[in-house]
Parts: sequence; structure tokens; C-alpha cells
Amino acid sequence: MSRLTPMMEQYKEIKARYSDAILFFRVGDFYEMFFEDAITASRELEIALTSRDGNREEGGTPLAGVPWHSASSYISRLLNKGYKVAICEQTEDPAQAKGIVRREVTRVITPGTRIDDQMLEQDKNNFLASLTMLQDRSIGLTFVDISTGEVYVYHIKANDEIERQEAINNELYRFQPAELLLNERACTDQNLPKVLHNLGFSYTKITEPAEIKEALSLLEKQFGSTNLQAWGITDYPSATLSTAMALQYLQTIQNVPLKHISKIKFYADEDELLMDAVTLYNLEVTETMRTREKKNSLLGILDRTKTAMGGRLLRKWLERPLRDAEKMEQRWEAVDELKKNQVARTGLALLLKDIYDLERLCSRINLGAVNPRDVLALKRSLMFLPEITTELGNLASDLLKELKKEIPCFKTLVEELENAIAEDAPFVLNEGGIFKDGYSKEIDELRMVSRDSKTWLLELEKKEKERTGIKSLKIRYNKVFGYYLEITRANLDMVPPEYIRKQTLVNAERFITEELKEKESIILSAEEKLSRLEYSLFEELRLKLTTYTLQLQQCARALAVLDCLVSLADTAAMRGYCKPRLASRTCIYIKEGRHPVVECTLSRPFVPNDLYMDNEKRVMIITGPNMGGKSTYCRSVALIVLMAQAGSFVPANEFEFMPVEQIFARVGANDDLSGGRSTFMVEMEETASIINNASPKSLIILDEIGRGTSTYDGISLARAVLEYLHDSCGSMVLFSTHFHELTSMEEEFTSIHNLSVSVQETEEGIVFLYRVSPGRADKSYGINVARLARLPVSVINRATQILEELEGARQGRDITLDKTTKGISFELGLTNDGQISFLLQGEQGEKQKNKGLETTEIKVIEEIKKLNLIKTTPLQALNKLFALQLRLLHHENAITDKEG
Ligand code: ATP
Repeated sequence: MSRLTPMMEQYKEIKARYSDAILFFRVGDFYEMFFEDAITASRELEIALTSRDGNREEGGTPLAGVPWHSASSYISRLLNKGYKVAICEQTEDPAQAKGIVRREVTRVITPGTRIDDQMLEQDKNNFLASLTMLQDRSIGLTFVDISTGEVYVYHIKANDEIERQEAINNELYRFQPAELLLNERACTDQNLPKVLHNLGFSYTKITEPAEIKEALSLLEKQFGSTNLQAWGITDYPSATLSTAMALQYLQTIQNVPLKHISKIKFYADEDELLMDAVTLYNLEVTETMRTREKKNSLLGILDRTKTAMGGRLLRKWLERPLRDAEKMEQRWEAVDELKKNQVARTGLALLLKDIYDLERLCSRINLGAVNPRDVLALKRSLMFLPEITTELGNLASDLLKELKKEIPCFKTLVEELENAIAEDAPFVLNEGGIFKDGYSKEIDELRMVSRDSKTWLLELEKKEKERTGIKSLKIRYNKVFGYYLEITRANLDMVPPEYIRKQTLVNAERFITEELKEKESIILSAEEKLSRLEYSLFEELRLKLTTYTLQLQQCARALAVLDCLVSLADTAAMRGYCKPRLASRTCIYIKEGRHPVVECTLSRPFVPNDLYMDNEKRVMIITGPNMGGKSTYCRSVALIVLMAQAGSFVPANEFEFMPVEQIFARVGANDDLSGGRSTFMVEMEETASIINNASPKSLIILDEIGRGTSTYDGISLARAVLEYLHDSCGSMVLFSTHFHELTSMEEEFTSIHNLSVSVQETEEGIVFLYRVSPGRADKSYGINVARLARLPVSVINRATQILEELEGARQGRDITLDKTTKGISFELGLTNDGQISFLLQGEQGEKQKNKGLETTEIKVIEEIKKLNLIKTTPLQALNKLFALQLRLLHHENAITDKEG
């Protein structure tokens, strides 16, 4: 094999140290990738795969490259696909290098450790998650966003496997981490890797600090021991370990102190309104179910924030609304004031529009990844702060007054930056032009030399033109030859003898002179010195900026809160929302409530509806036609409560309530086939989770529970669930259903009440009124809706006919369906004792009459009735169902055999 060139030797040596990353190896204006990295990059980034030394087919080194200035977008795409990237820079000037230019890896970037704006989504956090499992199977889960400095920590101690999985799923769904680290025990766990796989997460195995002592000391160094005690994290070993593991990982990747990570939000005792992943998904809080986009989600409708920080915070407010009534009221007061004071609101919105992402900027300052343009943006943002505080000074609500105090004016810093950074400062650090004249005497002197020399060059050009008589003579510069005189071919005979030829081109030749070279060395050394000096002064300035970290972070948070409040006030004013009121006893009172999203997407007016619930009216059963607006109604109630607890005004004319601690929403049927769970299984598991976690402080939305199984099973389960929620949980429940049989519960249970959505029957068909009123619905209108959905007329007619006959059967008429299915027809009727009778007619016309239900079927029903579902695990339920089904099938076969 041929020997490697010195550069490739250097490449191999560096690559060996970063074997798990794709190495971006800087060569001039390109980042090049070689060997396997080149093949991967060309496949993933759809860029050309070439060869460095000869034909690839003949064993040349695979090579793929991207220009340095557009590298971020390529790196971002690799990170999105889960790759780790190591950036290897040339760390000395190639012109000065003796031999091979020195190169070093300056940064390693992984999906969860991005800090560059171009690689991040503005209004979304980018979390690294770290999960540790201990021997007692308790779980620590830490989420760190290095780009903002936020840390959220959870301790999960579940009673069983399902609870554990649910808790993990809930947090991973909410945080959507870009990267997940697992400790060894978690990786070798029987279930966890499978669960994560089903949730679509890949993970990296990491060795956590060997001992809790080591983890604690790492955290103490980062946050200070008093803080740690105060946050309460030290009592939870798994949470301590997961946090230490995350920090350790970030430290190895970043290689600089993580000073901007100074706070932990530890969730041990819940102080926020809880919503599990299923609820967030079903209520479409931050993304829609269908497209998984923010547009047309609750967040999409409410978000009118102007800053990236505000956008991220509003998302959090909606994902984790408040429990504390006082804090809620503070937000409502502020929103109220801003809603009423349009001048202040518009003024603040205009000012906020020009505020840069200070939170992320602050992180980049600390991580040494800030550029001169960022600092310029920082200065420009800070310049708006006095105006913001002046606006706030005119407002009276407590929260706004508090925010005013948290926004300093940074007068000295602004002045310093104003004097330092040039208004046209570049994005890069090593090309000079960062500082204003007058900032540093040394810079000014060097600039003078360089400027004077350039004037000298212009004069030289003029002088030489005159002396030689060559009008087209030009002095030019390139990186290879430095400064030279270029003379076109036609004028070559006029070149003076002292010109030294350097290069011949097609139409011209290039020359140098002694004099020109002397000046060149003065100019180049001045420029070189200048850019080095500017680089080091910028580093000095950066270090100075790091001392403002805490102040800047606090200010960024206050601006984010202000932005959210202004945004909520804006939406409230625009959409006619009302201010919530706190009730002193359990109740929900909504006057003319609307669904915040549906009302924006409809082309016709939304029909508002009322609701009153309290301890005596705790469970509402909502019946009505398909498409009548049942789901919309139930969801609008949940969303109104959620919005109010997030601090927002709500889409209603009046709203009074007592805050809840949890919202559960189970809407429609989802399956999880990849996870091996059928639609019905998912429905039952989710219902079990609600039943097990619900309390009198929960609001529960259950939409068509029991739909995923046969009618009898469905009704029985739905009723049992309702009974349990009514008797044992004491929660507020909105239960929409097509099982009209359930409406009779109103008479049996004091706190259960019926509501129904109404339709009007006209000659042209049905008209949906979307009006919710007390009472039960008498019909389902399913066929009418099917007609609206343009099912073929023949199918509609046939369905109408079958329906009439089934209804006839209910009324006691013996009827026979005139069409047969696969040669078998059947008759339905009502027996004297009120049971449905059916008559099977086989192909040969033989009849088998069954009065009432078969004994086996009756036994099966009896068994279902006796089941204690509350104590039945989903798996036991599935097994039971399977056994019951087998018995029914055997029974059917037995009948067929007899007939045969
Ligand atoms: P199904 O029983 O078939 O699930 P549903 O009774 O739950 O139906 P929804 O899904 O709530 O009905 O509503 C169907 C459609 O009716 C909605 O997509 C919306 O377009 C419209 N709608 C619902 N409520 C209202 C309302 N209050 N005002 C105007 N339109 C409404």
C-alpha cells in the first residue's frame, strides 16, 4: 500500500480519537470527510462522493466535502439524523506553517448539545436527556438544554412496570429530547430499551459516576451545596446520578466550564397542573394529532410572542400550567391590564420584536461560541431595555412591577459595547474589523500602517503606470503570491528590466519588485498582527461578558415572561376572550364557551355553549348524533381550564372555576401496533391509568370509551368506569358516548347528569345545531352522517332498511332481513321476557331457532358482569377476553357442526 501523505497521517491520528463522530476536517475553504465518514456524509447529505487520490474504484481514498461557510446546515442535517460531529480546524495560518498546518478538534456537537442559532429551532428547546436506573428500579431523569442553561430533573418511583413506563413516556413526550443517555443498568433492563424503541428513541450508553458521593461532589461544584439542599435533589440518588451523568457528558463534549448552567428545577412534589402524554396529545396542546405541527394546535393559536425566549416559555406554560391559584391570578391581572391598555401592549410588542435570543446568546458567550455579530446584537437588544422598563413603569399589576425590577438597564455594559464593536462587525473572529476605531490604541496604530500602506500601493501603481507608459498596469493581491504587478500580454515589451517575473497567464504576466515585496511584508505583518490582536481583545471582551451571566439570564427570563403576557393579552383582545374568576368551592362554570382552535378554523360561526358542574353535578354524560359536536364540547372545557391555569384568558363570555390538579383526556381510539397493543388494549390501558391516578381534583374527558369492542362489552365497561369515577374518584368527568343506555344512570346516581347536542331534522336531511342542553339524545343519526360523507346511495339505502328492521325487532315485530350474507339470513324479534331473539337460516333453508341467548352466551355475560375491572391489569383483561371469545367461538362451531 502506498504511504499516506503527512496530512492524511494527521487526519488518521485525529480521527482515531473521535472514532464515534463524523470528522469535519478543515482543508482551506472546505471541511473534508474521508473514508467511512465520506461515504456516510455523501449518503445522508446527498453530496458528491469523490476520491482524494485517483479513481475510487481503484482504491482511492473516499472523499466528500462541504464549503466552510455553509457547514452549519450540513452539520444540522447530520445531527437531526442522530450523528455526532467533530469539527477539526486549522489552528495556525497556513502561510506561517512550517510543514503540515496544525489542526485540532475545536468542538464536538451531538444532537442534544447544539448551540448555534442556525442549528436550533427558535421557539423550541433542544434537550439532552439523561436517564439512570438504580437497583431498586427507581429512575432519575434529567433534561438539560445547554443552549439556554435550563435543567429539569425528575425522580420516578413507580409501583409497577406500567406506571414506570407511563411516567417515562410522559416526560419524554413533553421534553422531546434530541439525544438520550442511559446508564448501564437502564441499558440492560428487560423492558426499558424496548419501551424506548417503541417510543422512537435511540440512546447512548454512558457510565455514570461510580458512586453517589462522586455525583454529589460534581453537582456541588456546579451549583453549590446550599442550592442543592434547597432544591431537595440530594435526597434522590437516581436524580442526583442522572444530573451528574448529564453534566459529566456535557463537560467532556464542551471542554469549557458550563457557568451558565446554574439552576435546577427539580420535580419531586408536583406543583404544577399535571397532564400525561396522552392528554397533551389528545388535546393538541402544542401540535396537532394529524400533522404533528404547531399550526392549529392550542399553542399555534395563542402564540403571538415576539422573542424566541417568549416562544419557548409559552410552550412550557401550556405544557405545565400552574396549580397555585395566586400565581394564576397574578398572570390574569397582568394580561388584563395589558389587554385594556392597547397603547402599552403595542409599544411593548414593538420593543420586544427587536430583542435577540439573550438566553441562548448568554450560553454561547459562556461556551466560547459567540461571534462579533452576536455581541452587536446583544448591545442592540440591551439598548431597548430602558424603554421597556419605562413602559412597565406606567403599569400597575404586581407581576409587571416585579418584571420591571428584574430588567436592569446594563448602562455601563451598553456604553462599553457601543465603544467597542464596529457597526459592521463580521461573523468571523479571525479577519479583523471587529472593533471600532478608538477602542484600542494598538489597533488604531496597526490600522494606520495598513491604511497608509494601501495608499502607498495606489500611489505606486500610478507612478509605475506613468514611468512605464503601461496604462493597464495593475497592482493586485492573492494568497499565493502576495502583491504583484499584472501586465497584459500586449504590453510585455514595455516591462522594465528590474521587474521579476513570477507567473505567466494566458493574457497577462505577473511581476514583483524588491520595493513591492518590502511593503508587502509591512502590510501583511500589520494585518496579521491586527487580526490576532482583535481576536485576543474579543476573547477578553467575551470573558468580561461571562461575568454578566446571571444578570443576563435573569433579564432574559423576565423578558420571556413579559413577552408571554403581552402575547396572551394580544390574543385575548383579538379573539374576545374573558378573564377567568376563581371560585371558592369545586365548580366549573362556563358561559358561552368556545373551542379556541375550532372557532378559528371554521368558515361559519362557532356555536358557543354553557356548562355548570360542581360537587352535585360532577359527571356529565353527553349523547347526541355523530358529528354533533360532542368531542369539540368536551375538549373545549378541558382547554378552557388548561388555558386559565396557564395564565391565559379563555374563549368564553364568563368563566369561573376552582383550579384542578390534573387533566386527563382520552379521546378517540389510537392503536400502537408496533408496540404490540391493539386499539382496544390501548384504550383500556389509558383508562386504567386515569382511574388509578384520578382524584377529586381531576378533570377527566372521556370520549367514547368502550367503542373498541362489542356493544355489550363496551356498555358494561363504560358503565363500570363511570360508576367507579363517580363513587371512588370524585373527579369531574365529561363522558361523551353513543351508548344511549348509559343515560339511565342519571336516575340512579345523584351526581350524574345528562347533556345532549341537538340536531334539526328537515326535509333535506339533518341540520347540526351544535347546541348542548340538559337531557339525553334519542337518536344517533349515524346513517344521516354517512350520507353527508357521501357513502354510495345503495349502501345508505340498505343501512336504512336494516336499521328499520332492527328497530322493528326492538318493538316486538318478528322480521326477517330479506338479503342474505353468504347464504345465511337471520330473523330478529323480541321475546315475551324482553330478550332479543334471532333466527339463523342456513344455505339449505334449514332453520335453527334460538329463543333468547344461548346458555354459553349468558354465562359469558354473567362472567363479564362479575369482573372487578379496577383490580384487573390490562394483560389479565386481554387474557380473559381471549378466553371468553374462545368459548363463544367453540359454541358457534358446535352449532354449525350440529347443523352440518
Ligand atoms: P362523533 O360522535 O362522530 O365523534 P362528535 O359529536 O364528537 O362526533 P365533533 O367531532 O365534536 O362531533 O364535531 C364535528 C364537527 O362539527 C367539528 O369538526 C366542527 O367542524 C363542528 N362543530 C363542533 N362543535 C361546533 C360548534 N359548537 N359550533 C360550530 N361547529 C361545531
